[in-house]
Amino acid sequence: MGCRRRAPVHELLRVVVVGGEHVSRLRPDPIRGLPGRGAHLHPDPACLELAQRRRAFGRALRVPGVVDTGELAEYISTSTATSGHPAGRGSHSKVGRPT
Ligand SMILES: [Zn+2]
Repeated sequence: MGCRRRAPVHELLRVVVVGGEHVSRLRPDPIRGLPGRGAHLHPDPACLELAQRRRAFGRALRVPGVVDTGELAEYISTSTATSGHPAGRGSHSKVGRPT
């Protein structure tokens, strides 16, 4: 969703929006179990940043106003920093993750 690279949906991280009245919050949904409207992006900080910059979340999730990506950003940075993602190698190696 952020960088618009095509990827199989199982390689993407599902995120859902949980509502507040004034601020909507993005929540990572790695097991795809949460109800509600979801969007998919690469579990990659660069992809998240692109999505933010394009306001892609607001459009994809149909939420007006501010979207809080703090929880999602933390999840992504944690999961990429550990790099213990057995299935995540190979396809993500070209993305140029920060070291
Ligand atoms: Zn992406």
